[in-house]
Amino acid sequence: MTTDKIRVTILPTGTVHADLQWLLVDPARMLTPNGGPRERDWVDVPTHVVYIEHPNGQRMLWDAGVPRDWETRWAPMGFDETFPIDGVPEEDWLDSRLRQLEIGPDDVDMLVLSHLHIDHVGNAQLWAGTSTTIIVDEAEKAGAFSFDGANLGAHLRSDYDGLDLTTIAADTELMPGVTALRTPGHTWGTLSLQVDLVDSGTMIFASDALYRSESYGPPALPAAIVHDTVAWFASVEKIRGIAERTDGKVIFGHDADQLRTLRTGVGNSYT
Ligand SMILES: [Zn+2]
Repeated sequence: MTTDKIRVTILPTGTVHADLQWLLVDPARMLTPNGGPRERDWVDVPTHVVYIEHPNGQRMLWDAGVPRDWETRWAPMGFDETFPIDGVPEEDWLDSRLRQLEIGPDDVDMLVLSHLHIDHVGNAQLWAGTSTTIIVDEAEKAGAFSFDGANLGAHLRSDYDGLDLTTIAADTELMPGVTALRTPGHTWGTLSLQVDLVDSGTMIFASDALYRSESYGPPALPAAIVHDTVAWFASVEKIRGIAERTDGKVIFGHDADQLRTLRTGVGNSYT
């Protein structure tokens, strides 16, 4: 399909479930001597990828979803218990999404990985041996190969081992109107993606630089899993500055309430 404007399609790719405390360190939920018991919240953590068709003919995919075999793949780290996936509609898995788009992995010119956590690169090995350019932040690649053993936290080496990873070391316009932004802190080299659309204005896909609307604030609230908290806060304000300057819309990485307000699915795009 050809397009005369940049076309963005947000595709939900399966929902993880987790204790909210993993996603939000919120003073309002902390125990106090006289405050009584606080509720724990077991919440939906939806994942999504973004498919971008460009007037120059190129196709980009942002992130690679969660794997169908999460139970066995994540069990050695215990993440099958901590972050279980269940009830994913058949049409939501990434391979189903590619079929709905009527493309194969090879048809994607650029696969941009926001970072290399298990819930963002679960299907990245579909691109092993393809001609697709796979892009990650330079610091993310360095960190992701800096440890011995199968995993370091939610970096599972087999998810990305052997892939030909092209790195960027600065904010980079990957295609006209589509810019990868360095927003580290959540991990060594988490990226966000700015897309400037003709009709819909600027959209900023924050991935795990911002899990949810409460993460953004203000005030910004970090998560339990943050590699570098100082860098994380700086990245949030970087995103906020760009969003204010462009009057852009920030799309959070794992916000179920926001996702319900967005156009999603094949044929339901932003231009
Ligand atoms: Zn992450």
